[in-house]
Amino acid sequence: MIAEKETVLVTGGVGYIGSHTTVALQEAGYRVLILDNLCNSDVAVLKAIAKITGEEPCFIEGDIRDRGLLDKIFSNYRIKAVMHFAGLKAVGESAEQPLAYYDNNVNGSLQLLQAMQEADVRTIVFSSSATVYGDPQSLPLTENHPRSATNPYGNTKLMVEEILENLYASEAGWRVALLRYFNPIGAHRSGQIGEAPQGTPNNLLPYVAQVATGRRAQVQVFGADYDTPDGTGVRDYIHVLDLAQGHVAALAYCKQSDGELLTVNLGTGKGYSVLEIIAAFEQASGKHIPYQVVARRPGDIAECWADTEQAYRLLGWRASRTLPEMCEDAWRWEQNRSGQASGG
Ligand code: NAD
Ligand code: UDP
Repeated sequence: MIAEKETVLVTGGVGYIGSHTTVALQEAGYRVLILDNLCNSDVAVLKAIAKITGEEPCFIEGDIRDRGLLDKIFSNYRIKAVMHFAGLKAVGESAEQPLAYYDNNVNGSLQLLQAMQEADVRTIVFSSSATVYGDPQSLPLTENHPRSATNPYGNTKLMVEEILENLYASEAGWRVALLRYFNPIGAHRSGQIGEAPQGTPNNLLPYVAQVATGRRAQVQVFGADYDTPDGTGVRDYIHVLDLAQGHVAALAYCKQSDGELLTVNLGTGKGYSVLEIIAAFEQASGKHIPYQVVARRPGDIAECWADTEQAYRLLGWRASRTLPEMCEDAWRWEQNRSGQASGG
């Protein structure tokens, strides 16, 4: 007898990290049901996933704040676990529209958790962020580093972490994974899926990639006077597929226990500066990438990278892909994408 595949509900599964995790889940033998309102993604991603895995995920277009819809989903499908990616993620925008961020990220998570509780689905993997560490007091960042938030987006992540911790403490049987992402970059090797920001990218990598294709003139380097080896900001960049596989490992870990509150960093443990990233992308693309140093971006920290030991000890998971691979894969995707955009 063939065992029935377990269904995982992936909120925000059409987006950047959710789509790569959907591929990893399908490859690990799960059936994926995506709920996404497409506010920051394109439904064509579903066909691209099918090209990679041979299986198009089930898709429901809708909003995590729609409690009636959530109840229908939980009663119509036998969902074993939820991976919760849906939310808004632009730090600058969160300061301009805090209510939209609290509504999507906090209220949306509450609606989802209430529907899960009602349906007796008690396994959730949540997309948190290294932003919950605030300005690092020590490096590498361990999971017990104090938490703080410097902007509304970071505050939504911190609040949902606390809500999940309270929920876990209140009732037996919850299996909760708080995954704190460092800086996900790169794309699937196939070039079929990747990061597709709308408008001007906020993040470094997609901006650099668009300078490499000629779509933008030059990278603005936000400050070269930090206390770092070359003066520019240092971050822990992690390949999005390593991140995706970290989710599969976290789900496996949760499933083997009756109750679990797992908090882990998903990073590589190594930091690279903005100038190192630009140089690595030049190498991967063979393109010259002009840049100009401008003022610091308000709210940025100098440097941060993860302590990865807890993830390895508990999950047996470590990131394995190198910075050149991250840049090569991002470059392949960017070329495909810009070819598609220009009709080529
Ligand atoms: P993304 O914008 O590409 O994906 C998010 C998806 O959620 C999109 O497809 C969007 O349409 C959908 N969505 C948003 N609000 C929704 C709602 N109310 N109902 C239904 N769908 C909704 O972003 P991403 O980079 O894939 O990030 C995924 C998650 O990881 C987010 O929660 C983000 O905060 C978190 N995260 C991202 C990063 C990063 O650097 N990309 C770092 C740390 C944490
Ligand atoms: N950065 C930059 N120019 C850009 C975007 C980002 O110099 O156009 C720098 C930023 O100051 C930080 C690093 O690149 O040091 C990573 O920024 P990103 O926004 O990608 O991620 P963050 O760690 O801030 O979430």
